[in-house]
Amino acid sequence: MLYDVVIIGGGPAGLTAGLYTARARLKCLLIEKGLSGGQVATTEWIENYPGFDEGISGPELAQRMERHARRFDLEIINGTVVDVRLDGKIKEIVLDGDKLYKSKTVIISTGASPKSLDIRGEREFRGKGVSYCATCDGAFFSGERVAVVGGGDSALEEGLFLTRFAEVVYVIHRRDQFRAAKITQERARSNPKVEFILETVVEEIEGEETVRALRLRNVRTGERSRLDVKGVFIYIGYRPNTDLFRGSLALDEDGYIITDDWMATSVPGVFAAGDVRSKALKQIATAVGDGAISAVSAERYIEENF
Ligand code: NAP
Repeated sequence: MLYDVVIIGGGPAGLTAGLYTARARLKCLLIEKGLSGGQVATTEWIENYPGFDEGISGPELAQRMERHARRFDLEIINGTVVDVRLDGKIKEIVLDGDKLYKSKTVIISTGASPKSLDIRGEREFRGKGVSYCATCDGAFFSGERVAVVGGGDSALEEGLFLTRFAEVVYVIHRRDQFRAAKITQERARSNPKVEFILETVVEEIEGEETVRALRLRNVRTGERSRLDVKGVFIYIGYRPNTDLFRGSLALDEDGYIITDDWMATSVPGVFAAGDVRSKALKQIATAVGDGAISAVSAERYIEENF
């Protein structure tokens, strides 16, 4: 079977692209490897997506976006894409298990994944006190001391979320200035459970079965210390999920896919949308906008080339 559009990745960008292509009555398939919603599905609470004036939980927004696209008969399947052949007029997408899909166009909306610190103990204690998702794991740390690493919106927002469970949340940041929005900084500073450890990096995560402590170094004084915690949540930014496309699409120096304003990549018939794309502001609102544009671009491309 030949699809008009195959969308890889079911976060806000992919689901919006799917909604638009389905409503345009194109033959469209969305492939998602996990739960729909991408990072939204593991975000506790969303306050800056227009239309939800009182905020909405991430999992609920994700479910609504999926329901919305399915209402117009978007076909969604679960699977991991292991290979893509994008050069020819007909694109080929290979899933694990060797299932092959053919399509006139491809929209890549594979998003980005949390970066790791690459320090001793991080991999060893992953899931045993080291986490990249407060929404998923926060409740395991009821009454405990936990640390959050990073100084962006994610670190402070998720740190605030963790105060619901933890006794103390240490925010460990390598500088004394934060990237997080001012309002989020104010909330964190006024929360009695949040303690800041600034100009400090984590050098090692220690434990036995599970995490017990962090080895810290003050980057200004060089002084080393040990901090007893049961959990450490790492929020130091994201890396794009573009390993599959290395060598076949133009990427920027950080590995994000380069597109034009119409979401067109360096290969005709291939579009990219959302956090996987090289752009200034990565938000749900911008991902949704990218998704809509990519769908219209795919439709136009098909009209002009088939
Ligand atoms: P981010 O803004 O890139 O912040 C990453 C933080 O981690 C920075 O403070 C950075 O320190 C620190 N960091 C990076 N590498 C590190 C390392 N190896 N060791 C120690 N610290 C390190 O990432 P983010 O917070 O995940 O946010 C990503 C994007 O999503 C941003 O545009 C953000 O505004 C957006 N976002 C928005 C919301 C919201 O609006 N509600 C919520 C979450 C995320 P330096 O500051 O020193 O570089």
